Formats: sequence, structure tokens, C-alpha cells
Amino acid sequence: MSKQSPVIPALKPASIAPKGDLEGYTICVYGGASQRVDMEHRALAAEVGTRIGEAGANLVFGGGKVGLMGASSLAAQQAGSEVTGVITRFLLDMEAANRELSELIVVETMHQRKNIMMERADAFVILPGGFGTLEEVMEVVTLKQLGQLDKPIVFADFSGFWQPLIALFDHFEQQNYLHNRFEDLYSLAATPEAILDQLASALAAKKASKAEAASL
Ligand code: AMP
Repeated sequence: MSKQSPVIPALKPASIAPKGDLEGYTICVYGGASQRVDMEHRALAAEVGTRIGEAGANLVFGGGKVGLMGASSLAAQQAGSEVTGVITRFLLDMEAANRELSELIVVETMHQRKNIMMERADAFVILPGGFGTLEEVMEVVTLKQLGQLDKPIVFADFSGFWQPLIALFDHFEQQNYLHNRFEDLYSLAATPEAILDQLASALAAKKASKAEAASL
């Protein structure tokens, strides 16, 4: 009987996303602050952060260590991203501000917090979340609808988390309450890999169309 060759475990790839895909870009990550959520969501949020770091992008977020926002930002930091947190003074303790970030900006109002995050971002990832996340995402979606913001928005639709909201958007459309085709305002991706692919292709397409406009 021939001896079977020993099984050599496959080497873990050093990088899970092609290095440099998002070099120079800043990704804003919105996500829930709750500590009581599905561990699978936490793991996927962390993987999104790792992939952002591995792709060479920086990250801006709400500044806290709690919940999915904490999981993704800590992982991005570990993977080499410059991470900026923007937090209001009254949330410093409540959301366990991460004092080891590349930059922690402390502001007075929630509006200032959102504005800084929005201005610094080249694109947005919407992790599962609650009222706060919904408030943040509706602001970017509505500004995009009005043509006041032209940045990719990707919903992290882990296990169909955002489907009830998408069903509501569908309802708005069926009743003719929308001004754009809502699918043009954002995209959905169910896995960290797909999220990063969508960010990379949307940002590359935006860069190409800017270059084309400049050459005319
Ligand atoms: P949540 O999805 O409710 O867990 O909240 C996610 C994040 O959104 C947390 O950092 C909240 O502090 C933040 N947030 C809550 N309400 C608002 C608001 N009105 N404007 C901006 N951010 C908010």
C-alpha cells in the first residue's frame, strides 16, 4: 500500500485583500454601539475593519470601543489603518472612547460629529445597527438623493440584516415617494469580501469619471 504523503496545512495568506486597493481613501464606518449583538456580526464587522486596513485605506468612525463600530475600528487599526474617531464629549465614557487612535476628535454636538465623519469620508459602510446608525445612514442617503453628496454607500447586509429597511424603501418607491431610483443611491453586500470589492469598484469608477471629465 502506498504511503500517503502527509497533509501539509495550507499557509494562511498574509493578506486577505489585495494590498493597496484602497490606498489613500478614507472609509467611514457606521454601526451599532450595542454590546449585546450576535457574535457573528461582531466577527464580520471586525473582518470588514481588517480588510479596510489590509487594502491600505484609513477609517473614520464614532470613536467608541463599543459594539460593531468598536470591533471594526480596532481591527482596522491592528491591520495598519490610520483610524480617526469623532465623538461628542458627553459620549466619551458612555461609548468607551478609544484613546489609542491615530486621532480622536472630541466635539460638542452630534451634528458636528456627523459632519466631520461625512466630510472626511470617501465612502461609507453601514454595518448593522440601531437608531443611531439609521439616523446616520439616512442623512447620507438623503443628501445623496439631493445631489449634495457623491460618495459610495455600501450596506453590510449580514444575514439579510437590512432587508426590512430595503423593503420600506421599496414601499416608498411603489408609492412614488422617491426622487431617484433608490438602487442608484447605495449598494448591498452580504460579506466583508463583497463590501471591499464594491468599495474598490465604486471608488475606481468615480476616479475614472473624474479623470474623464477633467480631460474634456
Ligand atoms: P446605535 O445604532 O443606536 O447603536 O448608534 C450607533 C452610533 O450612532 C452611536 O455612536 C451613537 O452615539 C450614534 N448616534 C445616535 N444618535 C445619533 C444622532 N442623532 N446623530 C448622530 N449619531 C447618533
